[in-house]
Amino acid sequence: MTALVPSEAVDKAANLKNAQLWLGGQWRPARSGRTFDVVNPADGVRIATVSDGGADDALVALDSAVSASCEWASVSSRTRAEILRRVFDRLVERRDEFAAVITAEAGKPLTESLTEVAYGAEFFRWFSEEAPRIAGRYGTNPEGTGDVIVTHRPVGPCYLVTPWNFPLAMVARKIAPALAAGCTVVVKPAELTPLTTILLCDVLADAGVPDGVVNVVTTSDPAAVSAQLMSDPRLRKISFTGSTEVGRRLIAQSAENVLRTSMELGGNAPFLVFEDADIDTAVAGALVAKFRNVGQACTAANRFFVHTSLADAFARRVTDEVAAMKIGSGSEPGVTIGPLIDRRAVDHNQRLVDDARRRGARVRCGGHPIPGPGTFYPPTVLDQVSADSELMRTEIFGPVLAITTFETEDEAVAAANATEYGLVAYAYTRDLARGHRLVDRLEAGMVGVNTGVVSNAAAPFGGIKNSGLGREGGAEGIAEYLSTTYALVAR
Ligand code: NAD
Repeated sequence: MTALVPSEAVDKAANLKNAQLWLGGQWRPARSGRTFDVVNPADGVRIATVSDGGADDALVALDSAVSASCEWASVSSRTRAEILRRVFDRLVERRDEFAAVITAEAGKPLTESLTEVAYGAEFFRWFSEEAPRIAGRYGTNPEGTGDVIVTHRPVGPCYLVTPWNFPLAMVARKIAPALAAGCTVVVKPAELTPLTTILLCDVLADAGVPDGVVNVVTTSDPAAVSAQLMSDPRLRKISFTGSTEVGRRLIAQSAENVLRTSMELGGNAPFLVFEDADIDTAVAGALVAKFRNVGQACTAANRFFVHTSLADAFARRVTDEVAAMKIGSGSEPGVTIGPLIDRRAVDHNQRLVDDARRRGARVRCGGHPIPGPGTFYPPTVLDQVSADSELMRTEIFGPVLAITTFETEDEAVAAANATEYGLVAYAYTRDLARGHRLVDRLEAGMVGVNTGVVSNAAAPFGGIKNSGLGREGGAEGIAEYLSTTYALVAR
């Protein structure tokens, strides 16, 4: 494995006004003067030093968002749409630069980073198209005594908190609908991957987003920044993507000012392969659903339930495919398995594999950490996994594919639903009626039938149960940033 030499693109993002805070359309250092380091997980080498914002900087960010709020809400939806469309165009033009930055700070292979840039950019295009379509309703009340007028307004200043695993897509999924709806925002990117958001500010400004509409506070102390913002009654909404544990805390905090909340939280996706599945399609889907971003995706397939008649063939086929995967720095050509985000993630995966092994799982391949530099874990296939293994309950968030078996559809559905999470479920079958039945029976906000990827800017992404509240993308995505006003005009 060779170390990633920071590319020009990374240097550019890291040096963008010395990676300061983006407040009211200006780059400013943290008031404390403090900074924190960003490292490349492929080699542990520091790639940038960014400003470490605190509660006082968060207040400045919110002041800016509040000051810009009325004017931005009154900008015509057509103008907002055109600005967002320019953001899409600029992201497409600068995709290589963004991909290099994502790979350097998050570790994923360059090809996956390019896919993420395309996916993330799509939210700006989609919501540029949604902005002018914010609709209202008009009618007469049933008594005939008045006219009912329903309109939608921006909810007001929003706080957007994002995770490290998709540094561009997660922030795009929030900023684009917020701006389309006419809201101003304070963004707090994950401390492990702040550079992509910093670089995005450059694109937003270039595309004509007015000063103060988007403000970014990078910080190593998210709790302090969140406490400051969420206790301020001028803030009207929080949209969070991250772990269920932190999400719960933020939901509790949001009670104080009765904030609108959107929560995109953890997952524990089941992947069902029925006896009538096309095994080639199921294996291809399994590889993408499991190993995208080395398994560090909320949509990652976490538990594989395979019909007993196919289980051995399925395990053999995925193990053969995994053996051909190239592990290394995401910037190296041909690499499909980059590093995990940090040492903690490697230890977490090893602990889950050891636990499954102790409970009777067979290790078909992988199963041991790779020595450094960098925080690598090999793609691992386990079968004969026992139902009481911890990885059946816990988000693996790594490249461990754990297979167990079933006999009947009822048994498969019950096992798939036996989790506190409900983000996504995947099912492979050639029986169309069964496919439709599963969409109804699986407890998940999203169901992929014969596909290992469901995300799409035009579709409502989100979960049920402890996987969250609200949706990102589709027509539903903009509704998260709008409040409904009803007027009765007496006749
Ligand atoms: P995390 O919850 O640790 O962190 C997410 C964000 O919350 C980061 O910006 C972090 O700085 C911030 N944060 C941490 N502690 C905080 C606190 N006390 N107060 C306020 N903010 C705080 O999650 P992560 O490790 O960055 O991301 C992985 C998790 O995100 C996984 O559980 C994954 O499933 C989930 N995720 C969900 C979706 C989805 O759409 N449902 C998408 C991507 C990731």
